[in-house]
Amino acid sequence: MTVRTRFAPSPTGLLHVGNARTALHNALFAVGQGGAFLLRLDDTDTARSTEEFAQAIREDLAWLSLEYSEEVKQSDKIARYNEVADKLRADGRLYACYETADELDFKRKMQLARKQPPVYDRAALALSQSEKDTFEAEGRRPHWRFKLNEAERVEFDDLVRGPAGFDMSALSDPVVIREDGSFLYMLPSVIDDIDMAITHVVRGEDHVTNSAVQVQMFKALGASAPAFAHTALITAADGSGLSKRHGAKSISDYRADGYEAMAINSLLARLGTADPVEPLTDLAAIAGGFDFGRFGRSAAKFSEDELAALNAKIVHSLPYSDVESRLPSDVSEAAWTALQPNLEKVGDIADLAQIITGPVSPVLEEGPVIPAAINVLPEGTWDSETWSAWTGAIKAETGAKGKALFMPLRLALTGERHGPELAALLPLIGRERVVKRLAGETA
Ligand code: GLU
Repeated sequence: MTVRTRFAPSPTGLLHVGNARTALHNALFAVGQGGAFLLRLDDTDTARSTEEFAQAIREDLAWLSLEYSEEVKQSDKIARYNEVADKLRADGRLYACYETADELDFKRKMQLARKQPPVYDRAALALSQSEKDTFEAEGRRPHWRFKLNEAERVEFDDLVRGPAGFDMSALSDPVVIREDGSFLYMLPSVIDDIDMAITHVVRGEDHVTNSAVQVQMFKALGASAPAFAHTALITAADGSGLSKRHGAKSISDYRADGYEAMAINSLLARLGTADPVEPLTDLAAIAGGFDFGRFGRSAAKFSEDELAALNAKIVHSLPYSDVESRLPSDVSEAAWTALQPNLEKVGDIADLAQIITGPVSPVLEEGPVIPAAINVLPEGTWDSETWSAWTGAIKAETGAKGKALFMPLRLALTGERHGPELAALLPLIGRERVVKRLAGETA
C-alpha cells in the first residue's frame, strides 16, 4: 500500500500555525513513508471560500516547502457528490428533514431540560408522504441527514490516541445537505478520501467524533475507512485556542516578520511530542523518523519566544549560498560570516552591516587606549590575524587588558557596547574607516 495523505483546509482564511502543523504532519508522514501528499480545498461553503485565500494557502505551503503532488477542489466535484447522495437516498441512508433551525433548537432545549442528551430524535423518518407534501406546499425545502447505524460501536486504532470506541446512539444523524442543496463538510470529505485513495487521515483531535461518523459513511459507500491520526491541538502559551480570533498570527504574518520557514517547521514538527525541539534545516531529514507514536495526548503550547530562539539558531547555521539572494547586495560572504552569529533574523543584517559600511558615529572614551590604538595601527593588508596583532600591541603599550582594552575599541569602531566579533570585522571595515572612527569622525 502506498501511503497517501491530504491536507484539507477551507479557503475561508489564511493558514495559521494550527493548520500549518496539520499540513506539516501530513507531508512529513507521506514523505517518510515514500508516499504522496495531496492538497484538497474544502470550498463547498461558497459564501466564505475565496480564490484569494486558496492562493494564499498555496503560497504558504510552497514557502514552507510542503510540496503536494495533486490539488483537488471540492467545488469541482458537486456532480459527483450529488450522484453519491442519490445512491445513499436509494439505500435509505439519507433522509429528508423539514425542521427549521428554531424547531431544532427548541427540541434541543426540551431535551436538555429533561436531562436527555441532545441527540436528533429522527422525527423526520416517521413523516408520511402527505406530511412531506404539505411541508413542500408550504415552501419548505428538505435538508438531508445521514442515518447512522446506532447499533454499531465504531472502533478504530488511532495512530496518536490509541484504540478509540464510539457509541453511535449517542450521536445525532449529521446533516449532510442543506436546504439549498449545498453540501456540508462531512460527506464530501469521505467521497474525496475514497476518490483520492487516501490511506491516512491526519488532522486535529477536534475531528475525532467526525471520524466515527465518517467511518460509517465509508462503509455505506462500500469502502474501507482509512487509518486515522488525530493530534492534540496546540494552544497559545496562556492555554487559549490558537485561532485568528484570539489574535494569533497567520503564517504569512510570520513570513512578513522575517521568520525562516524552517524555524516554523522545526517547532511545529516537534510540538506535542516528547522529542527536543531542534533547529532543523531539512524537512526530508526529519520525515524519515516521523512517527505519530511520539505524540502525546495533551495540548502543546506554542510560544513565539521559542520560535524566535529557534529562528536565531537556524540563521546562525545558514550558509551564505542559501541566503545570498535575500541579502543586500553589498553584504559579501565574509560580511555574512562575520555578522551571522549576531542575527536573530536574516533581515536584521541591513542594520548590522552598517558597522562595516557605515555611517557609524564613534563613541570615544577618555584614556590611553584610543591614542595607543592610533599609534600602533597596523599598515599593509589586513586579515583575520590583524585584530590580535593590533590589540596585542595596544596592550603592550598601555597595559590595558580585558574589558578596559576591548570596550574603548568597540565603542570607537561601532558606536555600540555590544555587537559581533571584531576580529572578522576589522578587515571588512578597512583601514580608512577605522582611522576616521578612531579620530571620532562619523564614517
Ligand atoms: N476542512 C476541514 C477542516 O479544515 C478538513 C478536515 C479534514 O481533514 O477532514 O477542518
